[in-house]
Amino acid sequence: MMKKLLCGVDIGGTKCSIVLVNVEGQIIDKIHTCAHVDRNEEDLVKLVAENIKEIIKRNDFQESDLLGIGMGCAGHIRFRDGTIITTSNLKGFKNYPLRDAVQSYFKIPVVLDNDANAQAFGEFKFGAGKGFNDMVFLTISTGIGAGIIINKKLYRGVTGTAGEFGHTIVEPNSELTCTCGNRGCLMACACGMALPYLFEQKIKEGKKSKLNLPSNFNLSKLSGQHLKKGLEIDDPVSKEIILDSGYYVGLGIYNIFQTLNPPLIVLGGGLTNWGDFYLDKIKSTFYELARDMIFDPIEIVISNIGADAGVIGAAALTLE
Ligand SMILES: [Zn+2]
Repeated sequence: MMKKLLCGVDIGGTKCSIVLVNVEGQIIDKIHTCAHVDRNEEDLVKLVAENIKEIIKRNDFQESDLLGIGMGCAGHIRFRDGTIITTSNLKGFKNYPLRDAVQSYFKIPVVLDNDANAQAFGEFKFGAGKGFNDMVFLTISTGIGAGIIINKKLYRGVTGTAGEFGHTIVEPNSELTCTCGNRGCLMACACGMALPYLFEQKIKEGKKSKLNLPSNFNLSKLSGQHLKKGLEIDDPVSKEIILDSGYYVGLGIYNIFQTLNPPLIVLGGGLTNWGDFYLDKIKSTFYELARDMIFDPIEIVISNIGADAGVIGAAALTLE
């Protein structure tokens, strides 16, 4: 029988997802668990392996029906040996050989990559990237991650950490410090982690928000969802922040364009829920900067894979 299934595992900070998908990227079954949080390395690996075996069994398949198991995890991953160098999502896991640890439970091949690379490859195989040879994927949520596809393959760099566009510096004199310690990184200026600061600044400048946040609201909890609501009720402060973010993402894409000249940029992640208002600012910023230096069309689109993009992308890694 032809192998026709892929298994994907997405190990997030709060949720671990395991899916079975077919070679078209359609989900056959999925398991979500939060039981992995706070487990030590060995126990987490055991939990993941048990869930993979369970999802295969409950769908009346066997391990040999699968092409492989693809895993995505946030953090710095050394691809060649499948090691997590560091991850902020899980306690421990420093220089931990996650791929080989999971592999010890299975005969089919196991691959491990950074979650943004996994999503990029999923987008390339099953989403907006279908039919392209080259593309760049950016996920914009709490932080910004990215993956680069060149000639139908992920470009990983020597360690596997290529595509960290979130840490490219777009505003060196910014007040905003990034998780990496530098000032003015793209992700520090443009995404979820910047929203509370930006909101506070606008209010300090005397702007009035229509958001009606409770007086005891903890501003550090201000999220993209709040601003999405602000956009819907035409709140000027929310709209300004979304435009600021769009400006920096547009600038970031311009830098990517000048570096790689890709025909396609796909945007994913929670903040893309801001929709056309956001995308239009990203695009207008990009086109103003790139002006007459665009000689072939470049498409900038929002991902259409949806909520399971991370874990579908992890499964796609088995097709690389
Ligand atoms: Zn940074």
